[in-house]
Amino acid sequence: MAISPLAAEAQAIAAEFDFGAEDGRRAVRKFVAQMSAGLAKDGDTMIPSYVTALPDGTEKGICLAVDIGGTNLRVCSVELHGDRTFTIKQNKTTIPHNIRVGSTAENLFGFIAEQVEIFLRDNYGSHVPSTATLSKSDHLPLGFTFSFTFNQTAINRGTLIRWDKGFDVPGVIGKDVIQLLQDELDKRNIPVRVTALANDTVGTLMTRSYTSPGGHKCILGAVFGTGTNGAYVEKLSNIGSLSSRKSPTGEMMVNTEWCSIDDELAVLPTNSYDDAVDKTSSNPGYTMFEKRVSGYYLGELFRLAVLDLLARTKHQAHVATVRSDSALLQQSGIDTAILSTIEGDLDPSLQATRNCLKEQLGVEHTTTEFASAVRTVVHAIGRRAARLSGVAIAAVVLKSECLSQGDSHFDIGVEGSLIEHYPGFERHLRGILREIPEIGQTGEERIHMGLANDGAGVGAALIAMVADEEE
Ligand code: ADP
Repeated sequence: MAISPLAAEAQAIAAEFDFGAEDGRRAVRKFVAQMSAGLAKDGDTMIPSYVTALPDGTEKGICLAVDIGGTNLRVCSVELHGDRTFTIKQNKTTIPHNIRVGSTAENLFGFIAEQVEIFLRDNYGSHVPSTATLSKSDHLPLGFTFSFTFNQTAINRGTLIRWDKGFDVPGVIGKDVIQLLQDELDKRNIPVRVTALANDTVGTLMTRSYTSPGGHKCILGAVFGTGTNGAYVEKLSNIGSLSSRKSPTGEMMVNTEWCSIDDELAVLPTNSYDDAVDKTSSNPGYTMFEKRVSGYYLGELFRLAVLDLLARTKHQAHVATVRSDSALLQQSGIDTAILSTIEGDLDPSLQATRNCLKEQLGVEHTTTEFASAVRTVVHAIGRRAARLSGVAIAAVVLKSECLSQGDSHFDIGVEGSLIEHYPGFERHLRGILREIPEIGQTGEERIHMGLANDGAGVGAALIAMVADEEE
């Protein structure tokens, strides 16, 4: 059946996002090679976490966690019940601008310590003992999730390399951030010991390992939200800088920083929309994987592709009208949640898509045919993002060699709006796993995937607890 010129243009744009089975196989091979190369040297990817044991769900006790990495500071306590369940209490505070910029280490870490004190007073009242009356073992362990670039040299030691995300407190660079926080806690007699510097994806891995309902070995924690990243279990002997180190498990969790894998674009697909997104980004040439996969960028890819669709069809009668205040006309103006809504619109009338176009995107006088063309574009962008996510997961599955171990099933902890809400994301991602000969359908069926909500908080607390036990 002949298709309309509008549908033909939409299909041509969608074809630019094709990522076939052979592309996937080639990319997985390259990702595995890049992961091995990253492990062999000290660099910005494949970063050892110094966490050498996973929880098994029987852990018990209360741990604190502090999560700082943007405008908000979160303090939480996690009570592990020893039966794969936990209770979490948390406080969120905005970090004042005058603390984030131009203050001193003492001011910033003093502010964090005060928030810990307030949290403890609000939630535990007079039950919190003071350090003066405590032996060392009575402290509360705290895991510190510090989402900036630091050089970690032990589970409880890391020096800040540089600030980003709007922070600029000069006296912190080159200093051990755990010690800076501990000093401020001690000054205030707060009975807390910072036992671990945690990473949020390692936290996702730890959280899923604690909560995994089947008790299967968790091999990977992966985040598909604003950004994307994964942490997995690697043999210590494969980690170049630490290969002679010993741990009872012989393993260590590694933060892949896969957002930056293949920045040289050896295997990542690239079309004109990808190029445009990269050029206008704050870090051209970097985090190329993330720019094709994560929530922060998919809305922008969609915006550029729909603008192109409109440009290509402008001579056709009555396609749609773009209002002057349309989000399509603003760079980074489109929330990836809109793609989920359009992808999930299965009604032949595409009324939800047309409403979304009108109300959220400022595109009026649409027809069902135009809505269908937009949906074709959305589907192509979402499907490619999911299949690329599958490449990263397949590479970790191969790199960890889990399928050659005896266990019948493995678990992957996932977190983030895309994997949680984007219709069909997991299905497309699993498609790649099946297409890799070393995994195939049998291997794919052995891999469970489940949400690890509250990963940053619960995970940091779990890391602090494991670290505390190891001391
Ligand atoms: P974060 O990664 O910041 O912790 P999320 O996992 O919620 O938080 O990810 C937020 C990102 O996900 C944003 O880029 C947002 O545009 C996108 N997003 C939010 N809701 C949805 C949704 N329903 N479907 C797809 N993407 C979404």
